Amino acid sequence: MVNDKERKQITAFIVDVATAGLEITYRCRFMGLRALYNAVVKFTDVRVPRENIISKEGAGLKVALTTLNTGRLTLPAACVGVSKRLLEISRKWAGERIQWGVPIGKHGAIAGKIAEMAGNVFAMEAMTFLTSSLLDRKSGDLRIETAMCKMWATEMTWRIADEAMQVRGGRGYETAHSLAGRGEPPISVERFLRDCRVNMIFEGSSEIMRLFIAREALDPHLKVGGAIFNTQLPMSERVKAVFSSGKFYADWYPRQWLPGSAGKIDNLHPNLARHVNYAARTSKRLARGLFHAMARFGPKLDREQLLLSRFVGIATELFAISATCSFAQRKIDNSDPPQADREEGGAARDEVLSLAEYFCRSARLRTEHHFAGTNDNVDRRGYELTQELLAGKHESLRRGMV
Ligand SMILES: Cc1cc2nc3c(=O)[nH]c(=O)nc-3n(C[C@H](O)[C@H](O)[C@H](O)COP(=O)(O)OP(=O)(O)OC[C@H]3O[C@@H](n4cnc5c(N)ncnc54)[C@H](O)[C@@H]3O)c2cc1C
Repeated sequence: MVNDKERKQITAFIVDVATAGLEITYRCRFMGLRALYNAVVKFTDVRVPRENIISKEGAGLKVALTTLNTGRLTLPAACVGVSKRLLEISRKWAGERIQWGVPIGKHGAIAGKIAEMAGNVFAMEAMTFLTSSLLDRKSGDLRIETAMCKMWATEMTWRIADEAMQVRGGRGYETAHSLAGRGEPPISVERFLRDCRVNMIFEGSSEIMRLFIAREALDPHLKVGGAIFNTQLPMSERVKAVFSSGKFYADWYPRQWLPGSAGKIDNLHPNLARHVNYAARTSKRLARGLFHAMARFGPKLDREQLLLSRFVGIATELFAISATCSFAQRKIDNSDPPQADREEGGAARDEVLSLAEYFCRSARLRTEHHFAGTNDNVDRRGYELTQELLAGKHESLRRGMV
């Protein structure tokens, strides 16, 4: 009740497990995170004292959304720690384990995995560090950045855990308990793999993160293009909006063809500046791509999830490149004078450049791969195939199941 009038509002509050009327009817068990105490909870006439309100009455949605932003940065921060541990396990084993007369890290197939892990760990830390410091400085709306950090870091950590298992071979698949039982170091790559899988599901699944980022990134166009993406409006009005925003695009669109640079970046090492300029140029190419997709699909663009996910993939890689170069420069600056504490970010210039260079070049390849997929893909055919499967066709695929 607000001023004696009823108003629908959301309020966040704490309910103690010992409260009368609260019953835990089922304790959930998971593949990993075994200490998690999630459950099915039943509330029967539960009364919550006013002092249990978090923030204030009616501020529940704000509390929830703020928590989301925080969660979307704490998860990547945790991913950085886990990934560093996995890299260290892999690095050590790749140097120790001899096959075909040399340590496995000298074989190209394993070396490639470890380089990828190292580059991604560096970039993951860079993105998390940059976004966290922007948040600390209250630098405006960071929902896209935090979502990108969450999505990218959780997916990369899963890949790192998967590759760490491969590097550790049979010992990767064996439990720490079993390894200890036969006198080997109890290194639990399988537990890391089980524990980190859920990161791509909770706090916003990867699929929902992509849709969220796409939607947020298209927001400026939504404001101008008005009704194009408003699924609540009739299709005819949405189609009309595609054409009515011509004035804005007459100015905006040509600018996306003009050469773009990252502005004044004199203080960046030339090797890093090259990549930041690529990110600036490519973000214009991305803007053009999005515009062409809007023109091609009009109001139906929001249903083109795979296409949007490629655009989000490009944007995230560009963000990762920019964050990595900025982080690398900070590290380089801190190592001058060279006796600066290495742990505090004073890593030697060559080491930093080697990591940043490897990462940026791989991220650029991934970016180009995403661009290629926007023109040439099997999305439509794949969608139809799934609809056939959902309709019960391809019965042969259901034969011989174990
Ligand atoms: C260990 C664990 C702990 C959890 N802890 C909490 C917690 O503390 N608090 C809390 O509130 N929740 C918690 N959850 C719930 C969690 O947030 C949800 O499981 C998660 O949001 C996914 O929702 P869902 O399981 O309903 O998946 P579903 O909605 O069934 O989705 C299934 C799949 O479809 C995809 N999908 C769904 N909608 C779309 C769409 N429109 N377009 C494209 N793809 C789509 C999803 O990404 C997913 O891959 C927890 C879950 C687990 C496993």
